[in-house]
Amino acid sequence: MNTPVTVTVTGAAGQIAYSLLFRIAAGGVFGPTTPVRLRLLEIPAAVRAADGVAMELFDAAFPLLADVEVTDDPAVGFDGADAAFLVGAKPRGKGAERAELLADNGGIFGPQGRAIAGHAADDVRVLVVGNPANTNASIVAAAGLPAGHVTAMTRLDHNRALAQVSAASGVPVARLQRMTVWGNHSATQFPDIAELRDAATGERLADRLSPEWVADEFIPRVARRGSEIIDVRGASSAASAASAAVDHMHDWVHGTPEGDWVSVALPSDGSYGVPEGLVSSFPCCSVDGEWEIVRGLEIGADQRARIDATVADLQAEAATVRSLGLV
Ligand code: NDP
Repeated sequence: MNTPVTVTVTGAAGQIAYSLLFRIAAGGVFGPTTPVRLRLLEIPAAVRAADGVAMELFDAAFPLLADVEVTDDPAVGFDGADAAFLVGAKPRGKGAERAELLADNGGIFGPQGRAIAGHAADDVRVLVVGNPANTNASIVAAAGLPAGHVTAMTRLDHNRALAQVSAASGVPVARLQRMTVWGNHSATQFPDIAELRDAATGERLADRLSPEWVADEFIPRVARRGSEIIDVRGASSAASAASAAVDHMHDWVHGTPEGDWVSVALPSDGSYGVPEGLVSSFPCCSVDGEWEIVRGLEIGADQRARIDATVADLQAEAATVRSLGLV
C-alpha cells in the first residue's frame, strides 16, 4: 500500500459530489493501492447533509477509505490536501446577471484559493468544476498558487464530443485519439475534430464526417448537451460531470495514454494566440504528473475564428472579474 492521499471535495452535499466521492473512495482516481483521506467541505447550512454523505461513505466499507472529515472551515478542509475538487459554487439564479454570478463566486473561490495556498500540500492539484469554471479557476490561481497547479474542467465536454463522434462514425470511443476542446466551458466552447484519428487505422475522422454535420450538429450539440440532459432527465448531468472529474484527476496523476491527449483548461502560456494567464481549454498531455500543452498544431481559418470567439468570451469574464477587484 502507498502512503494515503488527502483529497478535498467542496460542495460535498451536492449532486456531483454524491457520485464523485464514491468513485474517489473506490480507488478510481488514485488507484487500487493508494488509500484516501476525504475532506468534505460545505457551507454551514449543508454540513448536516454532508454528514449524511459521510455516513454513507462509512457504510460502503471501502477498503481504501482511510478517513472522512466534514467541515465548513476551508483552513481545515484544505489542510494537507494533495488534491482538491472545487465543486461547490453559487448556482445561476433565474435572471441573474453574469456580473452578479461572478461576484458571488469570487466570494467563494477567492477565500478557497487563499486557504489552499496557505494549508494544502505544496504540490496540490486543483480541479475547478463549479461554474463558471474557467473564471473561478483564474480567481483561485490568483491566490498565489504555483503555476500548473490550478485547472478547470472541460473533460466532460471532451468526453461528450468523443461519444458523439463514436456514435456518428461507428469507431469505438477506445480507438478515438486526439479530440480537443478549446476555450471556455460555456456555449462558446469549440470541440475540434481536426486532429481526431482512429488509432487502429490512422484514419482522420475529419475525412469521414461531413463538415456540415460537424458545424451544424456536432459542435452545437456538444455545447448544449448539459441543457439537453436537464430537459430529458429533469435534473442536471451530475454523474457524467463526476465521471469526467475522475478522468481528469486520474490522467493528471497517472499520465495520458501514449499518442493521445485530453482537454484541460489551465492558465495560458500564450500558446495558440490565447492571451497569457487566461484559463482556457487546450489539448494537453500529462507527463511526469504535470500538464503540458500540446505544441505545434496547425490552426486553419475556421478553427482560428472559433478559438477567437471562445477566447473573447473568456476575456469578457476576465474583464468583469478585474472590474470587481476579484483578481
Ligand atoms: P451540483 O453538485 O450539481 O453542481 C455544482 C457545480 O458544478 C455547479 O456550479 C454546476 O454548475 C457545476 N457543474 C459543472 N459541470 C456540471 C454538469 N455537467 N452538470 C451539473 N453541474 C455542473 O450542485 P448542487 O446544487 O447539487 O450542490 C452544490 C453544493 O455546493 C451545495 O451542497 C452547496 O451547499 C455547496 N456549496 C459549497 C460551497 C463551499 O464549499 N464553500 C460554496 C457554495 C456552494 P451550474 O450551476 O452551471 O450547473
